[in-house]
Amino acid sequence: MAASKKNIVIIGGSYGGISVAHNLLKHAIPILPDQASYQIVLVSAASQVICRPACPRALISDEMFNQNKLFVGIPQVFEQYPKGSLRFVHARATNLDYNDRIVSVTFQEGNTEQIDYHALVIATGASTPSPLHGLNRDEQSLKASWHDFRKALPNAKSIVITGAGPTGVETAGELGEYLNGRPGWFSSKPEKPNVSITVVNAGSQILPVLRPAIAAKAERLLDKVGVTVIKNARVQSVKPEGAGTETALTTKTTVTLNTGQTLDADLYIPATGSKPNTGFVPQALLAPDGRVDTNPATLRVDKAGERVYAIGDASSYARQAIHIMLEAIPVVSANIKRDLLLAAGKEGVGEDRNFQADVRETQMVPVGRSKGVGAAMGYQLPSLLVWLIKGRDYWLWTTGGLWSGKQWVKEK
Ligand SMILES: Cc1cc2nc3c(=O)[nH]c(=O)nc-3n(C[C@H](O)[C@H](O)[C@H](O)COP(=O)(O)OP(=O)(O)OC[C@H]3O[C@@H](n4cnc5c(N)ncnc54)[C@H](O)[C@@H]3O)c2cc1C
Repeated sequence: MAASKKNIVIIGGSYGGISVAHNLLKHAIPILPDQASYQIVLVSAASQVICRPACPRALISDEMFNQNKLFVGIPQVFEQYPKGSLRFVHARATNLDYNDRIVSVTFQEGNTEQIDYHALVIATGASTPSPLHGLNRDEQSLKASWHDFRKALPNAKSIVITGAGPTGVETAGELGEYLNGRPGWFSSKPEKPNVSITVVNAGSQILPVLRPAIAAKAERLLDKVGVTVIKNARVQSVKPEGAGTETALTTKTTVTLNTGQTLDADLYIPATGSKPNTGFVPQALLAPDGRVDTNPATLRVDKAGERVYAIGDASSYARQAIHIMLEAIPVVSANIKRDLLLAAGKEGVGEDRNFQADVRETQMVPVGRSKGVGAAMGYQLPSLLVWLIKGRDYWLWTTGGLWSGKQWVKEK
């Protein structure tokens, strides 16, 4: 009977949530006593998952990627498991009551439901200031934003992007190459770019995760596709208010910097970092930066009571990056399995697994469709390798195995 099920609620259907769900369905539920009494409840505001890193290129045109690989239906990837083992709830979590262990959700139609949990995983990720860079709401609103942006793009003569982390740099590189042409081996900046593209960075170095020499190389590559970089300048104001966000995505914008300089943009793209989707989580469970305060070794949310975990961009456990999260998934899944076995009265379940994030310099940043900069595990990568690993298709080659769960067939 559904009412007697022990719910393992996972909130957020992306890299974190889908991966933990596959791991539990493959490696934890089958070994629990009375396995039919458990149900994974996957709550997600979006009913499709996307290869999020692809957004800087995908936003230009549907021709850039195979759309059937870019957007994948979430319920379909779980059809392989026994009926009833996973319930997909296409809704937004709006409240977490960690004393009574209940998550409240609101469906698109406005109706609500309260779901009690035996275990809870928070994997709601983070939203970007620009709606062009991910599932801030759901796949429909992302596609609608891309549609509006693409309609405005042919008439744009000036584009301003604020923030020169990987999202800002990749977006500038893609737009630069698409609008101003592909760089040749020896060519420098196009004589007169068709579209003026400016990236504004608060610090003295773009791409702060990478060493200065690699960041400088990225600047040179940006220059070749007609992108100007302004450093040491912060945005003081943007007019009209809300420019570049969902409410005013394609309005002409005036950006005033703290240096006194003003920039007029036909299109304005804020890429100044992301905000964790933790509005439904009580303040007492949050770290000062708004992410869920998570034990970085066990990935439990210690203050939330038994069997509560957080992973991915919504969690304080580590830097927000997929390669780090993929190392953490087996650890959190093993600890959930252990906690579920203990709760079921099993003994001799072994110790906790402890996670340790790899903090070596690792980041790859394509600049257009054939070039890029980056490092992996502390080693600088040549442009060709960045293209080969990431720039060709922005990791789309990896998401098939992740979404289908093939990546997690073996317990890691
Ligand atoms: C443009 C861009 C490029 C990137 N490129 C790279 C890269 O190359 N390499 C890399 O390592 N990292 C990259 N990242 C970071 C990477 O995308 C994130 O680390 C990763 O997506 C985080 O996954 P997640 O599962 O934590 O959450 P997200 O991918 O943010 O997904 C969260 C999911 O939860 C849903 N959700 C949100 N709130 C609620 C709620 N209240 N209730 C229910 N569902 C909710 C959302 O709809 C979404 O489906 C990039 C990020 C961006 C924005």
